[in-house]
Amino acid sequence: MSLEELYQEVILDHHKHPRGKGVLLSPDATAALFNPLCGDQISLSIQLQDGEKCRLAFDGHGCSISQAAASVMIELSEGKSVSELRELLEKFTKLMKGELEDADRDILGDAIAFEGVQKFAARIKCAMLGWEALHQCLSQLEKK
Ligand code: ZN
Repeated sequence: MSLEELYQEVILDHHKHPRGKGVLLSPDATAALFNPLCGDQISLSIQLQDGEKCRLAFDGHGCSISQAAASVMIELSEGKSVSELRELLEKFTKLMKGELEDADRDILGDAIAFEGVQKFAARIKCAMLGWEALHQCLSQLEKK
């Protein structure tokens, strides 16, 4: 299977038209991560609205997998609570390990498009970069 075959329509679309790109003016948590293997950069910021629902934005550059994965993550995360985001993070991590249960596929929406990435160890880092930034942001929020 060639790498090109991974670049499904969803991934290309999110790469060309990233959702939630930008910077939040007064974020409650931020994280900036770099993937030296590929040169990908993602900075993520989260703002709590009404003390519960999260608003997310990301900025960055790098390969299409890293940027599209962050865009899909933002789309899935919109309006979710910290604990709901924890659950999404856990499910996506399982997807990357090939351990996701069938019953949990729906919750990941478009993120399922990254399933094929798990076969390419170096690319898992790309797909996880935004989600690792989410992990750091959630840890900051949970300490507040
Ligand atoms: Zn990459």
